[in-house]
Amino acid sequence: MIEKTSKDLSQFHLDLERKFGANDYHPLPVVLEKGEGVFVWDVNGKKYYDFLSAYSAVNQGHCHPELVSLIKNQAETLTLTSRAFYNNKLGEYMEFATKLFGFDKLLPMNTGAEGVETSIKLSRKWGYLKKKVDQNQAKIVVCNNNFHGRTTTVISFSTDPGSKDFFGPHTPGFIHIPHGEISALENVFKKDKNIVSFLVEPIQGEAGVNVPEPEYLKKVRSLCSQYNVLMIADEIQTGLGRTGSLLASCGNCTCESFCEQQSTYVRPDILILAKALSGGTYPISAVLCDTEIMEVIQPGQHGSTFGGNPFAASIAKKAIEIIIDERLAQNARVLGEIFRSEMNKYIKSSKIVKLVRGKGLLNAIVIDENHDSQTAWNICLKLRDNGLLAKPTHGNVIRFAPPLVITKDQLFDCINIITSTIKEFEKSI
Ligand SMILES: *Cc1c(COP(=O)(O)O)cnc(C)c1O
Repeated sequence: MIEKTSKDLSQFHLDLERKFGANDYHPLPVVLEKGEGVFVWDVNGKKYYDFLSAYSAVNQGHCHPELVSLIKNQAETLTLTSRAFYNNKLGEYMEFATKLFGFDKLLPMNTGAEGVETSIKLSRKWGYLKKKVDQNQAKIVVCNNNFHGRTTTVISFSTDPGSKDFFGPHTPGFIHIPHGEISALENVFKKDKNIVSFLVEPIQGEAGVNVPEPEYLKKVRSLCSQYNVLMIADEIQTGLGRTGSLLASCGNCTCESFCEQQSTYVRPDILILAKALSGGTYPISAVLCDTEIMEVIQPGQHGSTFGGNPFAASIAKKAIEIIIDERLAQNARVLGEIFRSEMNKYIKSSKIVKLVRGKGLLNAIVIDENHDSQTAWNICLKLRDNGLLAKPTHGNVIRFAPPLVITKDQLFDCINIITSTIKEFEKSI
């Protein structure tokens, strides 16, 4: 796939990964060595716009200078104590994050999947202790085409064969419904008294940026309250400014905290954050909820060696502060609207792009199904050649999610790259 073999440094690194690495990913053939803001550079010095942002982990932009200097400083001071002892960074971060998002308590973990696992354990135990569900009978409702991570329990309720087949026996206790269909949720709630929680992505990212109707989350909220079921919002990808508000659960609210001002406001019972919680510097996740729920976990019943270490705690606090101080959610909202309206102008006359959808700067274009599944991949290769990195998700969908620090001029530059690349592509088919 790489044309220049002898002079091309990329081939060397590609070969190493392919020879010595597990074959668990299918990366776009580009080898990166440097990042700054919205840009990344490959080993040959070629510069690209990053339109994936490490699946929305790099909302703050690559190597944000404030994060870098904090990391250098904290790395020289104290990194890990384990939770066997207290540290001087965790408490301040917990106070900051709980007040900002409007919850009593925070439980720190590392990866997104661990955050999801934590929410599953919390809601099951809450079910037994508080809702009085019979032992081992708890059920959790999840959506078809969900993506919540890769652990054994989390893939047990995936509906993607590649993610779950041959990894059984699977963890039981999950009920599937279609995402965005409120009547389906009500039907299962009516039928089953043992349901303890509903785990939902406000917008399904990996499934291809599926945006439900605007009132969906609100209706989910009221059904969950009505049936005494915990609403768990997995905002690992949609949160922290990505969709044009601090959280996707904030609906259309643009203010800098998780407030109750707006009619679109939805407050889940359990909120899961990860990815951009570190600005892409380190794996950090968090689970937030009120005392009533969090208190079901007592010493010795859950934990993580690295979770809540002073390094992570100081990074997470700063990473959130950057999103607020630089008004990244507002930027995502304004630029997201420009992106979709400009793409729609192009799509009217496009032979292969069917539609653009998304919210804020989490967007995707859908390639017409008349074209084979290679089309999206081939477009991404051409985009790479033209200086923009994006990746297909779910076959014929290409996700476009640049760091939220992107400027209007840069966005127009990128829209130009994307539309001219696809036009070029249309000519060649
Ligand atoms: C990425 C992601 C996860 C898993 O996070 P990891 O850090 O990869 O474990 C879970 N849920 C959603 C919605 C995600 O996008």
